[in-house]
Amino acid sequence: MAPRRASLAAVAALALAAAPATADAATSPTDRARDARGPLDLLAGSLSQEGPDLRLQLRTRGPWGPRQLVPSQHRSLCVELFRGRDADPRSRLCVLGRSGSTRAELRFERLSAGGAVLAQRTLADVHRPDLRTVQATFTPAQVELGVGDYRWRATSSWTGPPDCAAKPCIDLLPDRGTIRGRILPPRVAGCVPRGASYRLAGPGHRKVVALTFDDGPSFYTPQVLRILRHFRIHATFFLIGQQVRPNASLVREELAEGHAIGDHTWNHANVSGGGSFAYSQISSTRAAIRSASGYYTPCLFRAPYGAVSGALFPVARSLGMLTIEWDVDPRDWSRPGTGSIYSTVVGQARRESIILMHDGGGPRNQTVAALPSIIRTLRSRGYGFETLPDLLGLKPVYG
Ligand code: ZN
Repeated sequence: MAPRRASLAAVAALALAAAPATADAATSPTDRARDARGPLDLLAGSLSQEGPDLRLQLRTRGPWGPRQLVPSQHRSLCVELFRGRDADPRSRLCVLGRSGSTRAELRFERLSAGGAVLAQRTLADVHRPDLRTVQATFTPAQVELGVGDYRWRATSSWTGPPDCAAKPCIDLLPDRGTIRGRILPPRVAGCVPRGASYRLAGPGHRKVVALTFDDGPSFYTPQVLRILRHFRIHATFFLIGQQVRPNASLVREELAEGHAIGDHTWNHANVSGGGSFAYSQISSTRAAIRSASGYYTPCLFRAPYGAVSGALFPVARSLGMLTIEWDVDPRDWSRPGTGSIYSTVVGQARRESIILMHDGGGPRNQTVAALPSIIRTLRSRGYGFETLPDLLGLKPVYG
């Protein structure tokens, strides 16, 4: 954190803060601040995972403006990324100003073992909460990191009197060695309910459908999961609360394989009257799902029998859930025959349909038998398959 050379006095930073560097620099107080060229010794830095993203923050002793962070000014602010036990960084992220612009961007550079730049690209504009801080968000893939361990350190260089006039000063954070980081697969822990509280289907723009399975987890759930795994597609399961704890491993398997989970009341009660009865049926199931998974909170509710009312929606919404029904119902619970289930689903499915089926509540061998051909036929017609939160465009919560 201390610069390699003698640290700079704060008064020097203040004196330098107002010096414009380019002839066309405007002279308003704001623009002078953007031209600040204080010392860049590093006070603090962090690189942390937030859901699927990496978030970088660096803080310097002196203020700096983007117009001063260009190569011709001999000033740099970078993060070096190391893999495995490599002594040398294999890539670098640098904050770069643009000459004549008040914005700064984050540039990725892939390095050879000798430090030569093999490839480079701009990742994103950076965010400046104040003139000493820079923040940026990007994905591990954008900086060529995968799941696993990595190491990093921040580096800066700058010139300026009194101590760094003749030769640039250089600072490292940490002063010695590197900081260890680990990238984990992002884990979806729920979604943010948004928009109308009651849905029968998506808006119908995209050629995708959502397969949904009610009344599990049960004996049939592993068979449904196996088929979904075979076709590499994701679905949504609406769970009965009292079946969650005895089948906790199935709940965890559903989530681990990327499926979404919704709340279908504690014991398949008719909760259309709303009120405290509906509240306790839905909230106890939510608690069971949280407990069995350890991290997941459902944001979707489906009313047993499709029995809904204006009194029910606000109860579900107060528990953070949208109420979801369907627009395709093959009545598979009535055991109409595998062929009937198949022909109803493929006959009625349209863009952004929500398809109702069951993986519990009774014998579901017809549903299981119909599922592969349903998927094959819809896929051959160009349909994709999404979880309900994805189909409805609900923002995921990570945790
Ligand atoms: Zn049901």
